[in-house]
Amino acid sequence: MTCVNRGPRVKSELSGTAKSLYLGAMEQIQAPAAATTADSRTDLVGLNSDEITALTNEMGLPAYRGKQIYQWIYQHGLTDFNDMLNLSKKLREQLTEQFRIGRPTVNTELTSTDGTRKWVLGFGDHNEAEMVSIPEETRGTLCVSSQVGCTLTCSFCHTGTQRLVRNLTIGEVVGQVMLARDSYALWPASKDNSRLTNIVMMGMGEPLYNFENVAKALRIVMDGDGLAMSRRRVTLSTSGVVPGIKRCGDELGVMLAISLHAVRDDLRNELVPINKKYPIAELLDACREYATVSNSRRITFEYVMLKDVNDSVADARELVRLVKDIPSKVNLIPFNPWPGVEYECSSGNAIRRFADTISEGGMTATVRAPRGRDILAACGQLKSESVRQRRVATAG
Ligand code: SAH
Ligand code: SF4
Repeated sequence: MTCVNRGPRVKSELSGTAKSLYLGAMEQIQAPAAATTADSRTDLVGLNSDEITALTNEMGLPAYRGKQIYQWIYQHGLTDFNDMLNLSKKLREQLTEQFRIGRPTVNTELTSTDGTRKWVLGFGDHNEAEMVSIPEETRGTLCVSSQVGCTLTCSFCHTGTQRLVRNLTIGEVVGQVMLARDSYALWPASKDNSRLTNIVMMGMGEPLYNFENVAKALRIVMDGDGLAMSRRRVTLSTSGVVPGIKRCGDELGVMLAISLHAVRDDLRNELVPINKKYPIAELLDACREYATVSNSRRITFEYVMLKDVNDSVADARELVRLVKDIPSKVNLIPFNPWPGVEYECSSGNAIRRFADTISEGGMTATVRAPRGRDILAACGQLKSESVRQRRVATAG
């Protein structure tokens, strides 16, 4: 078999704007706080309890009304104020006049032969992002997007071939989870159901480059009066935005997955170019700090298995040497191909050998079963048709 091309990928170099986004500080990309609505009413999805209460205070209502409305929206999944039966008819009418409770629109929905579902979602401005639901026997994982496209250009990732179009808003991030609950009829949110037990920020985009919105959305997801998911069931995956890792630890404390993929800087610079800014040693220091704050902070190192690129026994040994002192496990991801890519997935034998070497080194290694490949819903296969219509503003 031919050796894969590790050099430049199917796409051209970063544009000037994308480059400055990549090199610049976090959160330079501006996104509106609330979703653009087709009508002029304010969409309440994405607002937290205090923000909804501030709005109802302005209407002259007592504070508890704001909390009630918040719970109707996030705990019960109501989209029509008329169903909020503990509010007077007049108030329900008033609310309907001023506000709406939106959802992303489902532009396409596909179901894989293995049961994985992919939704192509629209957000009222012609942009699209994808969300994937992966059912297993006893649990269900929802893979949520944080951006339309991605500024980073990891060479093996389909999303990375799509320029960043924009950050998703708070409402668009939390709205994905709510839409999944709608489609599985999983309301109220506090009700246990194996259809949706875990959330992973592993869809399109780099969540730590949209930290403000992702953090606010996840706070609603984890709020007991909101979507009531345990923080131990929420995982944020990052390509290694070091300053964001610290913020994520200080402000969210969710489970962290690090897309490591290589054990040498020269190779990681090629595969995950943000490594040029935050090299492996710096990244692992941030992980060490994150993981030692509390026992629950076990990190998952994601490692995509690329044939003849990063899958040797020596690589596996080096991986163990690098991360063994960090409370962590390694998750091997068989490479998921996409149209035009030149990498190949490592053979089953190579993956097993790699996993065994990690186990022999005293660490836990799991191999992620590829799901939804037939509908391009597996890790790194997501890409929407959205193209950037105007240059995004960058601060320097
Ligand atoms: N931007 C974040 C989260 C989204 S990508 C990050 O990079 O971590 C989710 C995971 O899928 C990452 O570990 C990413 O490296 C991996 N991935 C990307 N493309 C892939 C592909 N073609 N096959 C397998 N995994 C891939
Ligand atoms: Fe972006 Fe993650 Fe894909 Fe890299 S792997 S291009 S950071 S979505």
